Amino acid sequence: MMSGLCRSSFKLGSKFLINNSFSTSTHRPAFPPILLALSKPVAKVLTVILGKGARTWWKKLPDNKKYVFKQIYQDNRKKVYTAVAVSTLGLGYAYESHVQECAITGRRRFVALTPDQAKRIGEKEFRSLLVINEGNIVPESNPVYGKVAGVANQILQANKDLRQIYDKTWTLTVVDDTSENAFVLPSGNIFVLTGMLKACETLDELGIVLSHEIAHVVLGHVEEKLTLTSFVQLVLLIPMAVLWAFLPNDGIALVFNWFMDTVVDIMIELPFSRDMETEADRVGLILAAKACIDVREAPVFWGRLKLLSEDPSLDKEMEFSSTHPCHETRQETLTNLLKDALHIRHSCGCTVLDYNRDPMKKLAALAAFMNSRRNTSSNSRSLTDVLVNQDGRIVQK
Ligand SMILES: [Zn+2]
Repeated sequence: MMSGLCRSSFKLGSKFLINNSFSTSTHRPAFPPILLALSKPVAKVLTVILGKGARTWWKKLPDNKKYVFKQIYQDNRKKVYTAVAVSTLGLGYAYESHVQECAITGRRRFVALTPDQAKRIGEKEFRSLLVINEGNIVPESNPVYGKVAGVANQILQANKDLRQIYDKTWTLTVVDDTSENAFVLPSGNIFVLTGMLKACETLDELGIVLSHEIAHVVLGHVEEKLTLTSFVQLVLLIPMAVLWAFLPNDGIALVFNWFMDTVVDIMIELPFSRDMETEADRVGLILAAKACIDVREAPVFWGRLKLLSEDPSLDKEMEFSSTHPCHETRQETLTNLLKDALHIRHSCGCTVLDYNRDPMKKLAALAAFMNSRRNTSSNSRSLTDVLVNQDGRIVQK
């Protein structure tokens, strides 16, 4: 990893994170909801109407006229092929000319939206989320708000050397909602639901979650995902129109339509989401290390979620993790990155961590508790009813 990461080259005013007040409620996306709003373009509907219209028109056409059209096509085949080739090249050029390097990781990726456009989309989303959640927003005077703001500020201040951090006016909205979720809009608006605060046992764990979410913004993942989704949908409009025009009836066309959507989901969107999550985990850990957060909590957090997911008395999955890699994979990835992260933390002059209070002990104690419960197979306490203290001993909540 990079050395000298903690050396900040940018000076910022003291009022870095602007507190904001009104709103909270039932909104709980795993990703900023703008993606959902833009994922179903009107173009898709128009394409279906166009394809279906062409099919109906062709069916009604007398045989002699059909023959004339077929003849015109035969005579102009070369022109048609040339038009298809030019369009394909045009799409290829559009793709190539929008490939750019990702911040920090240097990964080459396809992005058509500018940071300013993403910011404007984020600001619009922010205003609508405030309206939706009005009445459930935790006021700034509430100590809970103060704690979250403290952690968020710690991360932002420590990383203000990054353009993607210092070029935004950051806000924090804490929403009284039982969903275990937190997200950050590309405009720098942090949303934390109180359910997520209950899922985090320490402020360091919250710091790990927030660093991950802020990393999504630093890496421009929303811009990237919106671009890819729009591009794939645009490219698919052509086969979709052909599909609706040539298949004998609507039922078969609908089935094929569904099939195409599923293939795109499985082949492109899901692995893409997982790759972005892994990248946000890696970069989030660096942001957290620079902010002197106890980065050892990162693999422990996912390890605990893995244990919780194996607890038969619980039937739930955190929405925060719905499109993410499995807990075990994340735990492993973060464990492998821990040595480098601790080095960054040390080079940033952070307080030395107490190795007698290693968070891994908590995880080991929880795993042991779960095993013993499995062996006794009694109707003992659920994992959510127990708490492990810093010495690794189980206590009841
Ligand atoms: Zn994420």
